Amino acid sequence: MDVHCHKCGEPWDSYGLFHGDVYAWQADAIINGAGCPSCEGQSVEHELTFAEMDEHEVALEGNDPFDETKVLEYKRPPKVVLWKCTKCKHEETQWPDDLQYDGRGNIKYIGRLNEEPLIVDDDGKEVKVCQDCYDNCIPCYECDKRFFDPEDTIYIQDEYKTVCLSCFEEFYSNCEKCGESTHQDNLNGFQDHDYCNFCLGEIKRDCESCGDEFHIDDAVEEFYCSKECFEESVEDESELLLEER
Ligand SMILES: [Zn+2]
Ligand SMILES: [Zn+2]
Ligand SMILES: [Zn+2]
Ligand SMILES: [Zn+2]
Ligand SMILES: [Zn+2]
Repeated sequence: MDVHCHKCGEPWDSYGLFHGDVYAWQADAIINGAGCPSCEGQSVEHELTFAEMDEHEVALEGNDPFDETKVLEYKRPPKVVLWKCTKCKHEETQWPDDLQYDGRGNIKYIGRLNEEPLIVDDDGKEVKVCQDCYDNCIPCYECDKRFFDPEDTIYIQDEYKTVCLSCFEEFYSNCEKCGESTHQDNLNGFQDHDYCNFCLGEIKRDCESCGDEFHIDDAVEEFYCSKECFEESVEDESELLLEER
């Protein structure tokens, strides 16, 4: 069964209109009398005969996938922007020539596969970016999220890692001695303060006499935690010497 273009009389196979012969918007235009790909909507001196009109009506019976208010002229509809990359302004678009009827009154997409946007963090908000920009956004070592703005991240010099501000607050503190930001797991509590491994090695000693830890600033004769421990060790030594004699 044919459908006749109201503008030029060109016959179109009604089955084909809904099964891939034309784009969905062209099928709508033909059915609505706005024109067809052959006349592009330009009226050609032609009036449909009653027989052709009947054919048109009969061919479309039971087929009503389009919105009659939409297609009034033969004009390719504008592209649809599905999403925009926040960083490079790349637009992921869908073109009207990517859409056809699937034979069941639905519209199917026949274009290339659309890229899905990737989500990165920008100042606490989620924004969409393309793959290239995603690869250029800065990943947080701790939470694996990516960050649009370098200002939302901190480089931990001692550990050669970059982390986001919230992970920094959650997991990092400063060494009391050198002031470097360090992961809390790598900080050591000593006398109510936190020190990095390096600084702890510099300031903490074990007493030669009692074995207790002491701060190097509190050392007595360099190796002892207290005067008592020092004296004790001196006594021990003289006892040893006496025994030896
Ligand atoms: Zn036509
Ligand atoms: Zn981009
Ligand atoms: Zn993070
Ligand atoms: Zn330190
Ligand atoms: Zn001691």
